[in-house]
Amino acid sequence: MNTYKLLTPGPLTTTRAVKEEMLADRCTWDDEYKAITQKIRSQLLNLAGADPAQYTAVLMQGSGTFAVEAVMTSAISDDDKVLIVTNGAYGERIVKMAEYIGLNYTEYKLNYDEHPDEEELRARLHKDPRITHIAMVHCETTTGILNPLELISSLSKEYGKTLIIDAMSSFGGMEIDVQGLGIDYLISSANKCIQGVPGFGFVIAKLEKLAACEGIARSLALDLYDQWKGMDQDGKWRYTSPTHVVAAFSKALDELYEEGGISARFSRYQNNNRLLRERLAQIGIQAYITDDKQSPIITTFLFPSEGFSFEHFYAYIKERGYVIYPGKLTDVDTFRIGNIGEIYEQDIEQLCHIIEEYMGVTAQ
Ligand SMILES: *Cc1c(COP(=O)(O)O)cnc(C)c1O
Repeated sequence: MNTYKLLTPGPLTTTRAVKEEMLADRCTWDDEYKAITQKIRSQLLNLAGADPAQYTAVLMQGSGTFAVEAVMTSAISDDDKVLIVTNGAYGERIVKMAEYIGLNYTEYKLNYDEHPDEEELRARLHKDPRITHIAMVHCETTTGILNPLELISSLSKEYGKTLIIDAMSSFGGMEIDVQGLGIDYLISSANKCIQGVPGFGFVIAKLEKLAACEGIARSLALDLYDQWKGMDQDGKWRYTSPTHVVAAFSKALDELYEEGGISARFSRYQNNNRLLRERLAQIGIQAYITDDKQSPIITTFLFPSEGFSFEHFYAYIKERGYVIYPGKLTDVDTFRIGNIGEIYEQDIEQLCHIIEEYMGVTAQ
């Protein structure tokens, strides 16, 4: 088998021990298995800095999008209205969900390299008192831009709105004080910074808010309230749970703690990211997002020249053991490199060496 490491933002490179957890078959209604689910739920609250008396963690089958849609369909009623801040494809996906569900919504649409503006947000909240919810992506994986969580949290508190954060690609890799920030719903998934394999997403939800969501969902399978009510009894999933993925995720959580928790993982990711951007800048490959808005998760790079072929570049790097990501912008030619997962400084060094070679720059 041809193996390579993933420099993509999920699925990402996982440890052998995480993959090995999937070699056992587990029974969904067995007490030991249900205890794994309960342990995961309490570890997630711990990582979010959330008190179990005020927050709960609900796991939802499917990829991350399913968990985002579960929140959108379960937490926003027909009497509510949501302000969706977008500066990338994942924010736009939330808008699409709002369309499908038939939610009342308004979009604050920005360029992909732009942050939301405080005065503009205030003006929109002031002008439209029907707005009850605000939704925003934390790290827009489309470009790697990191959106201002403190700003949106403080405004949502000040104006008394329910805050929904898609922290899919950042949770576990960056400290997010969910309770301190007053986030009502934070969404992430198994195969991003916690370094598990794909198969489910999870929601850290404020109990007071979730408890008021009975009967709102327009979807049976994605009813977050029902999922919570079932799971909260004893860790039993409502429908078939992705047992192998759950076991692997539990191992991945243990490994996150062993590494030193989120702060240690953040340092590793940030170091990977800084090194990558510095080294590529030296050979004329520039990042699309400016340093002050750049996340430590994934970077979008501009093509270094007009005749540059991504397909050729991709194949060259893949042959040498790493897989990168195409760009997702329509107006500029770009490619992306993720630096999360079981990736260390020596991988970045190795990758930069391969790229330097490709570019005809002789290193050392
Ligand atoms: C990965 C990701 C998602 C979910 O994508 P899936 O393909 O459904 O897992 C949602 N939002 C962001 C910001 C992401 O990075």
